Formats: sequence, structure tokens, C-alpha cells
Amino acid sequence: MKIVGKTDIGLVRRSNQDTFRIKTFNGGSCLLLVCDGMGGARGGDIASPIAADAFSEAVTARFRPEMGDGEAVLVLKDALEAANRAVYQKALDEPELMGMGTTIVAVLVTGQKAYAAHVGDSRLYLFRDGDLSQQTKDHSYIQDLLDRGEITPQEARIHPRKHIITRVLGVAPMVEPDILSLDLLAGDRLLLCTDGLSGPCTDEEIAGVLAANGVQEAVDTLVDLAKAGGGYDNITIVAAECESGIHMED
Ligand code: CA
Repeated sequence: MKIVGKTDIGLVRRSNQDTFRIKTFNGGSCLLLVCDGMGGARGGDIASPIAADAFSEAVTARFRPEMGDGEAVLVLKDALEAANRAVYQKALDEPELMGMGTTIVAVLVTGQKAYAAHVGDSRLYLFRDGDLSQQTKDHSYIQDLLDRGEITPQEARIHPRKHIITRVLGVAPMVEPDILSLDLLAGDRLLLCTDGLSGPCTDEEIAGVLAANGVQEAVDTLVDLAKAGGGYDNITIVAAECESGIHMED
């Protein structure tokens, strides 16, 4: 699997509150994750790496290449809880951080399967045979309006309240898990990103870049595209391409 990760502060923000992690296991399995922190000047900076590390450690402690669907799902659920607890506990310990939280989208790839967990509006996309499909469903106010048919996708793109998310990691003692699984094919690409990419760039634009570029060039080009769209937010992307063997970049 060829994997590339990149984070960029963007053109406007004074800090980068996004975090990504890429962890490879013996045998070609890997864990990819992206977090988008929030909660004031300090809180977001702190929440996203705490969640990323707690999640990664929890998965690493229990990962087995031979684990089946049920076990993989359970490991991700428990990792989400561990990440949630870690952020929440930090805010209890340091009350000035109270209310900080983070999104997370994490994918465990093992064999020909991918298992994903997510909270918030960071996304997982699958790019297969030239088609880009969003696999995660945003936990956001706008997604709720879309689900109820109250706005169109076009209206959603420019809605003034599109930054409001309805589920966050770390702000309460428990978090509701959202887990999915995918069967992978050779040549499939997985794209994880924060809303710093999916906000300014349409799915069509993202698909066009993926179709025209290798993984490294695609990630660089997508970051540039998000900046060309204003760069109002931190931009974070992890992209992976399914092939035989492991090949790491960045
Ligand atoms: Ca963001």
C-alpha cells in the first residue's frame, strides 16, 4: 500500500489544529487517521493529537493480522472510546481546556478489508475506477438538513452554518461510534481529509485530481487546490493506494 499524508496550516489560521497519523503493521496492514481539533486558541491544538495518539495506541495494542470482522469493529469502537476518554479527561484535569474536542476519521486496512470509524465532519472517500464516493456521513447540522430534504447539495456548499458539527470526540464521557467496513480491490484509493479540503473543493474537483495524478502528486495538488479556494482552514489529507506490499512516503 502506498500511503501519503500531509497537513497544512492554510492561509488564514494562526495555528494548525489538525493532526494525522500513519501507522503500518507487519504484514502490510495499516492504520490511517485524521483529526480536526476545536475549542479555542489552545484547546483544538491539544485535543487532536491526544485523540490521534490514544486511538492509534489502542488499535496497536490489540491489532492482529488474522482478526475477523467482529474483532476489528470492536477494536475500533474501543479505540474511539479510549480517544474520547483521553481528551475528556485532559479537559477535566485542566479546566481552561473544558469544551475542547476533535473530529476523527480512522481507517484500519488489513488484507482486502478496510474498517473505518468516524466522529464529526472529517471524511473518508473511496476512489475506484475513476469514481469518488464519500463513505462516511458527516455528523453535521448541514447533513441533517440534507437528510430531511430541507436544502439541496448546492445550498449546503455555501450554507453559513456549514461548520456546525453535531457529534464531537472528547466533549462528553461517552461518544456514539459510527463504524463501517469496505472490501478493497487492487488500485482502490482511500482519501481521508478534514473540512479544510472538503469545504472549498467539490467532490468533482477532488476526483479530477485523483484521476490525473499519482498519490503523492494528488495530495500536493489537493492542498494547493484548497489554498486556491481561500485556504480559510487547516488542510489535512491522508491518501493510500492499494497495491501489493508496503511503500511509505513522507
Ligand atoms: Ca477544520
